[in-house]
Amino acid sequence: MIWYPYQQMKTMTPPIKVKAAKGVHLYTEDGLDLIDSISSWWSVIHGYNHPELNQVIIDQLQKFAHVMLGGLTHDVVQQLSDKLAEWLPGDLDYCFFSDSGSVAVEVALKMALQFNTNRGSKRRTILALEHAYHGDTFKAMEVGDDEDYHFAFENNDARRDVIHIPTELLALEEAFRQYGDELSCFIVEPLLQGAGGFRMYDVAFLTRARELCDEHDVLLIFDEIATGFGRTGNRFVADLVLPDILVLGKGLTGGYIGHAVTVANHRVYDGFLSDDPAKALMHGPTFMGNALACRVALKSIELFERDHYLEKIAAIERIYRQELEGFTDPRIREIRIMGGCACIEVRDAKSLEGFKQFAAERGVFNRPFLTYLYAMVPYIISEDELLQVLRTMKAWFELNPVKGA
Ligand SMILES: *Cc1c(COP(=O)(O)O)cnc(C)c1O
Repeated sequence: MIWYPYQQMKTMTPPIKVKAAKGVHLYTEDGLDLIDSISSWWSVIHGYNHPELNQVIIDQLQKFAHVMLGGLTHDVVQQLSDKLAEWLPGDLDYCFFSDSGSVAVEVALKMALQFNTNRGSKRRTILALEHAYHGDTFKAMEVGDDEDYHFAFENNDARRDVIHIPTELLALEEAFRQYGDELSCFIVEPLLQGAGGFRMYDVAFLTRARELCDEHDVLLIFDEIATGFGRTGNRFVADLVLPDILVLGKGLTGGYIGHAVTVANHRVYDGFLSDDPAKALMHGPTFMGNALACRVALKSIELFERDHYLEKIAAIERIYRQELEGFTDPRIREIRIMGGCACIEVRDAKSLEGFKQFAAERGVFNRPFLTYLYAMVPYIISEDELLQVLRTMKAWFELNPVKGA
């Protein structure tokens, strides 16, 4: 029996069973053809069943699927770390691989804390954002700030090492004034906070955060698990403001195999170099550097560059704006658009009840949560398919009159 995520198993409506998938289409057991408007939790950026991605996995499988990185290494993980070092901005050159995003965030936080321990500093406090989401493991949860995900641990007072601030310049200045010399790191989802409600904020906040981190000797961590690989319209937000540690996941393997990476700059890496074995980074996920995952990640990056994905994402954003800007309904609180992400936030979660079924009847798979109805489409979506997604979202409001009106 499968135990499903974020579900009350007692009252859950049965999930849709997928039998095949191709491009942006999911083909279901009931004979439906559904456009996936959320890219399987934002990861399937090239669509499903992509011939070139399939092929590299088949090729690698004929050599080997996996060997551990403890005492062993292989060409594919070497090629991927070389490619990332060359492709990522600045001196983000040292790649530590993990099997999932949450673990990669743990690694980033561990790096920041141990970087300080290694240099004899007692800095332990972590600065994070309100409404942050950084994963579901304990420490990642602690820096997260979303009660809807983590309420079960609310009474766990481990939170005292973490300070949360809103994405406002005044709050940022105040936090550094008050705690600047106790902070080990500042972790953010840059520009776009995903699971915390598709909240978007200005790059000026990050520019100032970089300056304050430099002034106060604090490491800046970008969790780009959701924003990386073009989702904000930038290749990485790190192209605009350079962090000390960058975390990538989700789109890294084009949604094929769970894998993530924590990339450190030279300064962080050098903080672990020593003749003392106790100063080494003590972490090692079993499946880190999995050869199938690394091989498909390399191909995914190749497609991203070769097929000019930033242009595709700019086209998606234009259509989002053309279809959604100015769309109003009394139930809608705000519409937010950035790059490959569009969100219609409603005032009351009840006004989204039944949307999943409504969309399925119109050939679209979507899964709103709380008060957020959003699209994070695969970048290879056609204009017609994208219009079908957005017009389904609008039709939900147009065809369901406000009750009592
Ligand atoms: C999805 C996500 C994570 C967690 O990644 P998993 O692979 O699900 O563990 C962490 N941070 C952000 C910003 C995410 O969107």
